[in-house]
Amino acid sequence: MKVLDLRCAQGHGFEGWFASGDAFELQLAAGLVECPICGERDVIKLLAAPRLNLSGAQEPRASQQVAATPDAGVPDAAHWMRAIREVMARTEDVGERFADEARKMHYGEAEERGIRGRATRAQAEALVEEGIDVMPLPVPDALKETLQ
Ligand SMILES: [Zn+2]
Repeated sequence: MKVLDLRCAQGHGFEGWFASGDAFELQLAAGLVECPICGERDVIKLLAAPRLNLSGAQEPRASQQVAATPDAGVPDAAHWMRAIREVMARTEDVGERFADEARKMHYGEAEERGIRGRATRAQAEALVEEGIDVMPLPVPDALKETLQ
């Protein structure tokens, strides 16, 4: 998983999660990357820089949409929109219980199935460290409306 520092045309800074640098470029070109604060799709990638935490207090990171599909792997980024639709159609939305459910499946305490939900970056990184495949799932608003 690749975490990029992004900024929208309105000057909002935010993080985006992507399967790879190429996945970011493709999603950006397809208009799937948008600012979580204002919805602006004119987004640029900031150059990686050491983080200076001058204020001493970091805002807690918001959780993001993620999915775990045991057999499917990461979808082909070129067909991201369709892939997201397929992932949403065949996964169960477990919401904030995502990390717990993914772990239970991994350790055989729950039936293996495709799930999606929300996880913070720290939760997602912990899952990946345990060998659990977690995929960022940037869901365009248009899809949310048709599938919920
Ligand atoms: Zn913005």
